[in-house]
Amino acid sequence: MCGIVGYIGNLPAKNLLIEGLKRLEYRGYDSAGIAIASSTGFDIERAVGRVSNLEAKLDGDTGFDGTIGIAHTRWATHGGVTEVNCHPHTDNGNKVCLVHNGIIENYAAIKTWLAERGHVFNTETDTEALACLIAELYDGDLEAAVKAALREVTGAYAIAVLCTEEPGVLVCARKGSPLMVGVGSGEYVVASDPSAIVAHTSRAFALDDYNVVRLTQDSIRTSTIHNKAVTPKVMQLELELDQIELGTFDHYMQKEIFEQPHALRNTLRGRVDRDEGRIVLGGLLSCAKELVRARKFVMIGQGTALHAGMIGEYLLEDFAKIPTEVEFASEFRYRNPIVEEGTVVCAVSQSGETADTLAALGEAQDKGALSMGIVNAVGSSIARTTDAGVYLRVGPEIGVASTKAFTGQVTALTMMALFLGRRRFLSVEKCKQMIGDLETIPDKIEQVLQQAQQIKAVTEKYVHRENWLFMGRGFNYPTALEGALKLKEISYIHAEGMPAAEMKHGPIALITDGMPTVFIANRGAQYTKVMANIEEVRARGGHVIAVATEGDTEIESVAEDVLWVPEVAEPLSPLLTVVPLQLMAYYAAVARGHDVDKPRNLAKSVTVE
Ligand code: GLU
Repeated sequence: MCGIVGYIGNLPAKNLLIEGLKRLEYRGYDSAGIAIASSTGFDIERAVGRVSNLEAKLDGDTGFDGTIGIAHTRWATHGGVTEVNCHPHTDNGNKVCLVHNGIIENYAAIKTWLAERGHVFNTETDTEALACLIAELYDGDLEAAVKAALREVTGAYAIAVLCTEEPGVLVCARKGSPLMVGVGSGEYVVASDPSAIVAHTSRAFALDDYNVVRLTQDSIRTSTIHNKAVTPKVMQLELELDQIELGTFDHYMQKEIFEQPHALRNTLRGRVDRDEGRIVLGGLLSCAKELVRARKFVMIGQGTALHAGMIGEYLLEDFAKIPTEVEFASEFRYRNPIVEEGTVVCAVSQSGETADTLAALGEAQDKGALSMGIVNAVGSSIARTTDAGVYLRVGPEIGVASTKAFTGQVTALTMMALFLGRRRFLSVEKCKQMIGDLETIPDKIEQVLQQAQQIKAVTEKYVHRENWLFMGRGFNYPTALEGALKLKEISYIHAEGMPAAEMKHGPIALITDGMPTVFIANRGAQYTKVMANIEEVRARGGHVIAVATEGDTEIESVAEDVLWVPEVAEPLSPLLTVVPLQLMAYYAAVARGHDVDKPRNLAKSVTVE
């Protein structure tokens, strides 16, 4: 969600910062701005809308030729989407200039205090209060002023700060919102995620909560806001530039849907051994004993990650016989959940920075739970703060609507359930069989993808309809929720997902003539029940689009349209059945002329609660 880029070095900062902002565009934002340190203060430009609008304005500007600067994409939380509210923000005296991601919760109290000291506010943002507070507390040392200000602040922040009185210094800090520091030679690039850093350097470290870094062109100092020295762990970024480039695809979402076979091969590589019936997950080993003896798992997440967690519940109960609950992280956090001995809380998150999930995890840890992460972004907050975890290894996901991260999460959860299952009740034979099936998934997804044109044609038949239903049972009930969510997110069509049996308890009243109703009707334990539900929809004039197992002749006589998936063991079927649903959502959004990768009001990683 929103982004920060900062640069200090000997290259002109402007183009570099704009380039960085473009790399962060996928995170979601509504306006953008830039400040470059100049001999007299700051050159600042702001624009509502796309980074290209900012770029166009800069074309007509003079100045902006310095080598130190900060830039921002804003996702408004406090104050409308207006040019005045765009970051960077300065204090009245133009001494301090900063960009901020997050929310200053006590901004109103800070403003009152500052107003008494003569500060005047020009924007509606919470951020301006922080700029003014740093200026107020400034006494010849920017780093000290930033720390003093942050000790007064509640909320979440990633900030990058410049000061006219210290022209060669850039100070950054974080709590709750992500920030990384790329370490080049004679230059530093600061950014919300590695995609804006890799073009310059592959050495970087993630700032921890309450840490502050002071950068000059040739020095770096990291410490906490309470002045404790910190030695950052610089790592090698594995991200390659071409992984974040669009290539021959029209949209990132499309690229990522089609990348799934390759991505999941990476998820599985070196972790499954079919001959031995063994799963090798290095990230679980240090706590394997506690995990095996767990009395209860609680899966937490939001959105797509929650749906993956729901499939995780079915998998853990089926393979490992561990009682499992699933909960929205945002609800878990605030309802004083019961965490007893043997409770494992497993956070599912693509970015590893989801604010609700991170906060819920903290709550669970405070209550003594063993914590785990199923995360894509290496070195992210969830990855760093959990006791154990499994990385997805699906590569960076840029499309706001999550696709390959979902199948990566489900694959990781499947491996985890087999890992624990083998150490509990699962026979080696069953495990071998499941691993064998898991290994066929990438090829089978390829087969589904080959039907893309047919899926597009089916989608276009219904794309003018404003209400859709998605239904499934068992392992594919969460898939139905995910199919509905995908359609909502990018095509803005109202869709609801539900367990097929639930339809009769209310939603059936919605079914009218020609209403598109998507059934996940693959061959499985509840196939005949799903078929009965299909009849109930047909009887009321609904149009059934079925996702069914290849070779099923029965389904063709009851469904208006059928999208085929290859046969696979039922617990693994969501990895296939979700793919046609992802493609349907994609083609619906394209047909409706929407900006697939930048859907209305949405951000990629939701780093505010
Ligand atoms: N709360 C700040 C604002 O509304 C920052 C939002 C963001 O993270 O972009 O301006």
